[in-house]
Amino acid sequence: MIRISVTSKLDGIRSWSLQALETCPGSIAEPATHSSPVVLVDACKGCYATQGNYRYPNVKAPRIENREDWKREGWVDDMVKALDSDRYFRWFDSGDVYAIGLAEKILQVMQQTPWVKHWMPTRMHKFVKFQAILSAMDALPNVKVRLSSDSVVGQYVKGLHGSVIVPDARVDPDQVTLCRAYENNGKCSGCRACYDKAIPVIAYPAHGRSMAKVIRLRLA
Ligand code: SF4
Repeated sequence: MIRISVTSKLDGIRSWSLQALETCPGSIAEPATHSSPVVLVDACKGCYATQGNYRYPNVKAPRIENREDWKREGWVDDMVKALDSDRYFRWFDSGDVYAIGLAEKILQVMQQTPWVKHWMPTRMHKFVKFQAILSAMDALPNVKVRLSSDSVVGQYVKGLHGSVIVPDARVDPDQVTLCRAYENNGKCSGCRACYDKAIPVIAYPAHGRSMAKVIRLRLA
């Protein structure tokens, strides 16, 4: 069964999601040595999808079920039908496209729903075997794949990353497009910049106490 989530932030735009961190191999920082403990990259240390409402069983359940559901025959057809009335769609409000088989199926859904503008943030570009399929998705006229920078202090690679976290709203508008959801109670309020292929990099001002702590440590 297709399980779609809706977050109030996105103006009611729907999303297909998985559990954060356990489907996010790109959230793990390169270990210093083989025996080093697992450490998350800065951007994932204060992950919103591991806090607040995301800890409730009714929010976790569809994300856990989706991890099995995508493997069944007929999932692509069912997703295409489920998107019949959508004009915008966000992949992975939480979680990431952790398996090549899932990426191949999502590509098919994107190809078969040209009436939908798809936005997919991801860190899977760090793994060479995912790069070709992410490029194939992004080459579609109705898809924007945003490769996320790991930085929380605005550092990104031009021409590679499509989004980055910044400590506050003081950004160079010639370089990045600022997400202004913070001016609208955390809601998109009609903005659709993340879905827009013409916008190379979105800068998201950090929010939340845990992210503020990560930034303090990084800027110290
Ligand atoms: S940049 Fe626009 S579309 Fe993207 S999250 Fe912010 S308000 Fe929403």
